[in-house]
Amino acid sequence: MTPNRRRFLQTAAGAGIGAAAFAQPGVQPAGGTFVHPRKVQLWESTRKEFREAIEGGSLKAMILPTGSTEQHNEHLAMINDTASVTLIAELAALRLYPQVMVATPVPVGISPHWMDRKGTLTLTRETFLAVCFEICDSLKQHGVQKILILNGHGGNVRPLRESLPEFRQKLGIQIEFNSYWDAYTKDIVNKHMESGVAPGHAAEFETSLAMAAFPRARALGGRGLRQG
Ligand SMILES: [Zn+2]
Repeated sequence: MTPNRRRFLQTAAGAGIGAAAFAQPGVQPAGGTFVHPRKVQLWESTRKEFREAIEGGSLKAMILPTGSTEQHNEHLAMINDTASVTLIAELAALRLYPQVMVATPVPVGISPHWMDRKGTLTLTRETFLAVCFEICDSLKQHGVQKILILNGHGGNVRPLRESLPEFRQKLGIQIEFNSYWDAYTKDIVNKHMESGVAPGHAAEFETSLAMAAFPRARALGGRGLRQG
């Protein structure tokens, strides 16, 4: 990874959705003291840990990552969107620890447009939205009053945006929505990217993030970046 790529990733922190120091995941929480990333993962918490966080009043909000399992060209893993958005969610939560935790990610999204590429999994709009809603409902039943649905897959954007009013009205809690790439302004993109295209699919943006965030994954760098 080039220094330029690392700087590009760090701009996520500057924009507020990402978190500091991709070089040291989990080492930059609020206050600068070490917090293990597991601390913000609902699925790694015991019921005692979660109960005490919510009943003790320290936990104020949760992030629900939504991703996909879909083809990402020849060089990125199918789980790329889910893995990327979950990482950003965790890094953001670590910056706000102990006030924010991350709910179990939704690993399959709305991807009918990639079903001609082998390996892609897709949910119908109705099923996907029902899963997201019922996770929010579960959190609400446990006392969570604020949820950010943080998305990592383009096909999920419109359905989730359109459903927000209904989610809010049915649950009576604060629910917000962003895709993690919303944090990248045109200036940031122009400064750090060659193509100037963000997010794009399996191209420079996603590949750069994957190479920095998941260096052991099978990201092949400059090879196979063409759409296909
Ligand atoms: Zn993707």
